[in-house]
Amino acid sequence: MIFRQLFDAASGTYTYLLASRHGGEALIIDPVLEKVDRYLQLLRELDLRLVKAVDTHLHADHITALGALRDRTRCITVMGEESKADVVSMRVGDGDLIEIEGLALKVMHTPGHTNDSYCYLMDDRVFTGDTLLIRGTGRTDFQNGDPVAEYHSIFGRLLKLPDETMVYPGHDYKGDTVSTIGEERRFNPRLQVSSLGDYVTLMNNLNLPSPKMMDVAVPANMHIGLAQKEVATTGAALSAREAADLVGQPGATFVDLREQTERDKTGSIPGSLHIPYPDLPRQLGPGGVLNEWTAATGRQVVFYCAFGERSAMAVKAAKEAGLAGALHVQGGIDAWKKAGGALKR
Ligand code: FE
Repeated sequence: MIFRQLFDAASGTYTYLLASRHGGEALIIDPVLEKVDRYLQLLRELDLRLVKAVDTHLHADHITALGALRDRTRCITVMGEESKADVVSMRVGDGDLIEIEGLALKVMHTPGHTNDSYCYLMDDRVFTGDTLLIRGTGRTDFQNGDPVAEYHSIFGRLLKLPDETMVYPGHDYKGDTVSTIGEERRFNPRLQVSSLGDYVTLMNNLNLPSPKMMDVAVPANMHIGLAQKEVATTGAALSAREAADLVGQPGATFVDLREQTERDKTGSIPGSLHIPYPDLPRQLGPGGVLNEWTAATGRQVVFYCAFGERSAMAVKAAKEAGLAGALHVQGGIDAWKKAGGALKR
């Protein structure tokens, strides 16, 4: 496994780069905007293809690199269902898996620091974001923070993990890089409380100043969605209603770019092909299904996904691969559902 802990000194943020092998797919957790060039360089050096960029929550202390990484690598952006970010490619909830080639993160919804705070568990380690820090816990005094929820997330969820589970936090300001669940249970001063009430009292009396970047970072991090308008100006975007008119038409084929878990949750447009987005480059290339099949049938491809991000990027990739005329459903299945479109499970 390739595992890199990267640091942004300005915000004290840890970013994690994960991959199962050189030459394979990679995933990044909590990337920082100012460090994008460094990440891209490292990805090139390690011969990795960035497939997913994931945030643990909507950050108040730095601007996320999710949007920039998507624009530069066409990766999938991932956040929790509760996140106030306008558009991400994929939203996850408690118990879901975030998968790339050879790796899976188990998604744990751990509200408290914010209501959209998530931890990601991978075998022997857990990425705790700002929920559990080394000898600290995430503040709960803004962004729908809630000390009661945080107590339950930490004591009821994280501390139930095996003691030897390694804790990789979203921040550290003292230079610590990793801890364990057992170590935090025993030595984290915030966790030496005897009741929920004691924890709430402790958290409500921290009197911390607001993060320096908060007024800039929060609004920026809420607007990270892909400019789907750009694709629309090329005439490649269909509204959900326009797309509905094409379902079952002999000239058009719908291609679902989501993952199986997303399809299972919401259903898919009847009669569509399934090509998960990370597999798209291969299927558009020589010998790929889309390449061969559209050449043979002359049918028009209509891509769709959850919110229209992956499909908008797919339209561009298709065009580059010489597959002219590909369309996508703007707003994805989300818009399709709101327009009353048929779904097959
Ligand atoms: Fe935070």
